[in-house]
Amino acid sequence: MTKNFRQTKIIITIGPATESPEVILALLESGVDVFRINMAHAGHSWTEEIIKRIRSTAAQCERNPAILMDVKGPEIRTGFLRKTMTLEKGDLIDLVHRREQGVTTTEGVRVVDVNYPKLAKDVKVGQIIMVDNGLIQMEVLEKKKKRVRCEVTSPGELASRRHINLPGIKVDLPSITKKDRADARVGIENGVDLFALSFTRDAKVVENFRKFLVKEGSDAEVVAKVEDQEAVQNLSEIIEATDSLMVARGDLGIECAFEELPIIQRRAVKETIGAGKPVIVATHLLESMIEMPVPTRAEISDVAGAVAEQVDALMLSGETTTGKHPLACVRMLDRVARRAEAELSPALTEELKLLQPRAKMLRAACSLAMQMDGTAIVVFTRTGNLANKLSSLRPNRVPIYVFTDNPRLPPKLQMRWGLDPFLMEFSENPEITLSKAIQRLKAIGRVAVGDCLVAVTNALAVDKVVETIQLYGVE
Ligand code: PEP
Repeated sequence: MTKNFRQTKIIITIGPATESPEVILALLESGVDVFRINMAHAGHSWTEEIIKRIRSTAAQCERNPAILMDVKGPEIRTGFLRKTMTLEKGDLIDLVHRREQGVTTTEGVRVVDVNYPKLAKDVKVGQIIMVDNGLIQMEVLEKKKKRVRCEVTSPGELASRRHINLPGIKVDLPSITKKDRADARVGIENGVDLFALSFTRDAKVVENFRKFLVKEGSDAEVVAKVEDQEAVQNLSEIIEATDSLMVARGDLGIECAFEELPIIQRRAVKETIGAGKPVIVATHLLESMIEMPVPTRAEISDVAGAVAEQVDALMLSGETTTGKHPLACVRMLDRVARRAEAELSPALTEELKLLQPRAKMLRAACSLAMQMDGTAIVVFTRTGNLANKLSSLRPNRVPIYVFTDNPRLPPKLQMRWGLDPFLMEFSENPEITLSKAIQRLKAIGRVAVGDCLVAVTNALAVDKVVETIQLYGVE
């Protein structure tokens, strides 16, 4: 069995460049595992339509991608603009909290809407306000009750609803806003698999959102987004509270000093893997490909570096929402990830902290598979637990085929490192279940006659359930 699979998963953010059924199909065929819907931009009817479209297209090609709804959280944004606004160095701009009125002028100065009522209270004269990921910068010259007058120091084109960062300032907005709840309800009604929480500041935010999900009857998982200094300070408690973590480098790179970014990324990745939970590295992976058909050499190295850190998933944003080459981006991630994975030594992670007896048994299963070159693991699970633990061990170069009879599980497992999930009815007789699974893997070319499999499953031994490992030669 040659290594023709990829263990690092690919998440794309869906947008105008990728919303058509044809492009969704091509993305799935190119290996997209998770589709992200960014509620900072998406409306409710579009969201519903897109979820249906992704599901029906995925059914055509027998794929089971996860759908991740990213709720906006306490984000500050500029208002709606019908067309972009050119900001030259030295221009004066008034940032004002008011209902979206588009660009107007006062005292000959252009006024831009901002959704944060306490902007004038929080900013200091002389402070730099970062707009659109820091591409546009403005210095605060003067503040009045509702108005902040700024001078543009880094010019650019201001588009509609651009993100504003106030580095180091604790923004006084609720962690989960009314809009987030309304958006999340649409996600819940449409069976979204994962919710990402923008600007997760502490464990409490995750806990509150989880309570909300339970109350609304959702079994979706929570992805905490680490994107400011407060989240970095509270990283350990956030990891403990969440189902998975996203290193959201777009905002993090503005809220923290640039040189801290790789250090924070490495720490967050290590700690999350250590806790046995999935971790996503997001943003600017192939930023230059928004315009260009090929990435920069530095971008390729960044992607390969994240793969070497054994992150669960890599996430594209602008590259696939409005970029000119969304499919080429996915193919590039796929290609670079496969090559980088092939260089990883056949060893298990040293990071994982959960060494209960059960994890030791799973470690033995992984070691067995790694010792016999070309061997895959087949795991049977109803809750996802066994599969998640196997993934957390990071058995390099060993495919993990997961069979479950729970229809809600495959998309969630899809985001995790190395897992290849399948939905299948289980038989009363475990031998029949195993044989059915192997027939299915053979039929789709995942395994062939002569391959060896390590099967991990539960079995009833007298009166208690125990995990078992079986070796199986494919005939
Ligand atoms: C980020 O900041 O990296 C990110 C993923 O968040 P968003 O795209 O929601 O700004």
